Amino acid sequence: MAVKNYQATVSIKEEVAKSTYLVRFSLPENETMDFLPGQFVTIAVAPNARRSYSIASSPSHNTYVETYADTFAGGPGSQFFENVKVGDQVSFLAHLASSSISLITNQSTSMLREQDLRHFYP
Ligand SMILES: Cc1cc2nc3c(=O)[nH]c(=O)nc-3n(C[C@H](O)[C@H](O)[C@H](O)COP(=O)(O)OP(=O)(O)OC[C@H]3O[C@@H](n4cnc5c(N)ncnc54)[C@H](O)[C@@H]3O)c2cc1C
Repeated sequence: MAVKNYQATVSIKEEVAKSTYLVRFSLPENETMDFLPGQFVTIAVAPNARRSYSIASSPSHNTYVETYADTFAGGPGSQFFENVKVGDQVSFLAHLASSSISLITNQSTSMLREQDLRHFYP
């Protein structure tokens, strides 16, 4: 499974509903990321913590990814999205578009935790 690490800059942050944020992560100039609908990124939200977030932006825009983050849970991922600011540098992992099917089927159970799946796929 091909996984790539990206560095990006937060270029948009909007609170779209109570404690729910739209955040855009823009890639460095001349860098692109090809992805498919349904794909997600795994963001380094703290020195020893990573959390996964679904890509909400269109694959036709390959110079950035956007996600909607619900911060209700209050853990490291929620705190990251509460505190992140436009201009901050962020690191995330993404699977190359051609691997997005195996991404879903082979994902480790530590990442696809049961509680996360219950929330997003009730
Ligand atoms: C493939 C995938 C895609 C995801 N996409 C998104 C996305 O697009 N947007 C998004 O906001 N999140 C998404 N998530 C969930 C995200 O990865 C984090 O789990 C979430 O942000 C909570 O992380 P945390 O560190 O704040 O809380 P954690 O420290 O992980 O959890 C704190 C406590 O809250 C509980 N909990 C976790 N989430 C919820 C919840 N939603 N409601 C109630 N209790 C909860 C946990 O079981 C735990 O007891 C996705 C998860 C996966 C696996």
